[in-house]
Amino acid sequence: MIDLRDLTYEELEELLKNAGEPKFRCAQIFSWLAKGAESFDDMTDVPKSTREKLSAFCRIYPLKICEKYISKIDKTTKYLFELSDGNCIESVVMYYKHGISICISSEVGCKMGCRFCASTIGGLTRPLTSGEILSQVVFAQKDIGERISNIVMMGIGEPLDNYDNVIKFLHCVNHPAGLNIGYRHISLSTCGLVDGIYKLAEEKLPITLSVSLHAPNDEIRNQLMPVNKKYPIKELMRACRAYIKATTRRISFEYSLISGVNDSPEQARELAGLLKGMLCHVNLIPVNKVKERGYKKGSKEEIDRFLKTLQALGINATVRRELGSDISASCGQLRKKHMEESI
Ligand code: SAH
Repeated sequence: MIDLRDLTYEELEELLKNAGEPKFRCAQIFSWLAKGAESFDDMTDVPKSTREKLSAFCRIYPLKICEKYISKIDKTTKYLFELSDGNCIESVVMYYKHGISICISSEVGCKMGCRFCASTIGGLTRPLTSGEILSQVVFAQKDIGERISNIVMMGIGEPLDNYDNVIKFLHCVNHPAGLNIGYRHISLSTCGLVDGIYKLAEEKLPITLSVSLHAPNDEIRNQLMPVNKKYPIKELMRACRAYIKATTRRISFEYSLISGVNDSPEQARELAGLLKGMLCHVNLIPVNKVKERGYKKGSKEEIDRFLKTLQALGINATVRRELGSDISASCGQLRKKHMEESI
């Protein structure tokens, strides 16, 4: 059975053509899928005969809202969505002055093994299909009843480990007949899969690339992120420079500040040296405590000192604002808790 949300506009057009349907039907159905149709019956302006014909070999899978938490402080909304095979993933909707943003997952679990990350503790179960990635935006938007304008691929999973489905998703979510979200409003975050960064540069999509760096040298990065053993910092930086050259887009480096591990002024200076002259921005994230790991964030003063040291050395840097602090559960924690409870 074909999941219709897995198809690009062009693929749907081809499928409908082969089924003997008129050309305009594609825009109609594609738009229903983006609006959150849960079955063929929802597509009220599509003739019944067409719906019956399609339902013989196509399916539409709605995402089920399994759990939902809304922050009383800033309205940040976390969803635990259930997929058609019973697996669960997380998405988070955040309200900003400039619009509504969603943080989405790209895989069920993750195999990258970053020491501070809750998403990777149970390993990788499976990649998401492009339709499942898209459905998170579709069903969150349907639930909140307002337009989502920005997407960050920073939820569970490593997007460049699920490369083809992620690229397909980007094309689908950008299509004018669908959700029509501009590439400039989309960020993709990677732990640093160098091959994927080179490939992505070739796609020439004006999305923002975020790179999870978290350390100024290989010694610390090896401890925090196993991926660094395969792609050490020098190679990663070479790929980042090639990406900037090919796309002329600024890279955003994510740096989770972990007390006593990577947050000293000396390490800030080392980081500044590494990034000197690059078209980039550093996003400092006070580490979210993960109880299995024992890492904790530093004081406000320590975080500020790291920020000021970078800035004084000419590096563009900001500290990420914490949203939804009352509903805790940084990405990966909700799914983990749910899995533990169902054992
Ligand atoms: N796999 C991708 C995207 C998912 S994680 C990546 O690695 O970039 C999104 C961001 O949150 C990454 O920068 C990740 O390193 C960071 N992160 C994960 N766990 C964290 C934690 N406990 N505290 C702070 N940041 C964390």
